[in-house]
Amino acid sequence: MHWNVGKVKITKIVELETIGSTRFILPLASNEEIRKLPWLVPHFATEEGRLKMSIHSLVVETPSRRIVVDTGLGNDKQGRSVPTWNRRKGAFLETMTEAGFPPDSIDTVFCSHLHVDHVGWNTRLVGGRWVPTFAKARYVFGRTEYEHWRDHSEEPDKSAVFDDSVRPIVDAGRADLVESDSRLCVEITLIPTPGHSPGHISLHIQSDGEQGLLAGDVAHHPCQMAHLDWSSTADSDPVRSAVTRRELFSRFADTPTTVIGGHFDAGRIRRDGDAFRFTVQAGGPAHPL
Ligand SMILES: [Zn+2]
Repeated sequence: MHWNVGKVKITKIVELETIGSTRFILPLASNEEIRKLPWLVPHFATEEGRLKMSIHSLVVETPSRRIVVDTGLGNDKQGRSVPTWNRRKGAFLETMTEAGFPPDSIDTVFCSHLHVDHVGWNTRLVGGRWVPTFAKARYVFGRTEYEHWRDHSEEPDKSAVFDDSVRPIVDAGRADLVESDSRLCVEITLIPTPGHSPGHISLHIQSDGEQGLLAGDVAHHPCQMAHLDWSSTADSDPVRSAVTRRELFSRFADTPTTVIGGHFDAGRIRRDGDAFRFTVQAGGPAHPL
């Protein structure tokens, strides 16, 4: 699955896909409520009102860079609060390599934020030690986000994530801490989008007059475009996350911007009354309107 924004190509590498069982993350998105949003079907929900979601990485190729945005759950991790996220033995790196992206070909890793499902493949277990998976890459973390988790990782499952997937990158001298509104490369600037986490960052891609937005977890699912106040249980500041959704979606609504989520595929944001909806046009989301 891939999309083009001017000269920039974005490829989704899936680690995990799910249908339903999302009440733990979006408790207000009941099947009954989702059935009231028929535009979610078939791409983002089933006829029965169950949500389709994925844990994935996005490989972003610019004319000069090969960037992995968010790195999923990873293998062999322990201390995760979701039981099936422990001691995984997934084929993610093989999938990436088969798609044309062997780990050593990646020059940059960018994490939208430092939650468990966005940092896992930063590292892999070799001889009992966590080492950088992408051996030739610089890892770019938002400074605000990094400092928050460095200073607030006392909860057991959070400290496990930081200790096995973030700290080893810093200790190996591979991390670059950046401000939340800085530029990543010629085509990509960062947009601070706090709320889901204190230093959450979205990516704005501009190339040849076309635009893309990698929104990260500003919304976990497009149903939150219709219901901006449906904050997720994982949001560190649910009020702020709703404000951020309105601000970000207002900026890109009704523009030909390819929007991709941290857990959903590409579409375009449309104004719909006092909120928004998400559309996938026939012929693929990368085509101009
Ligand atoms: Zn996430």
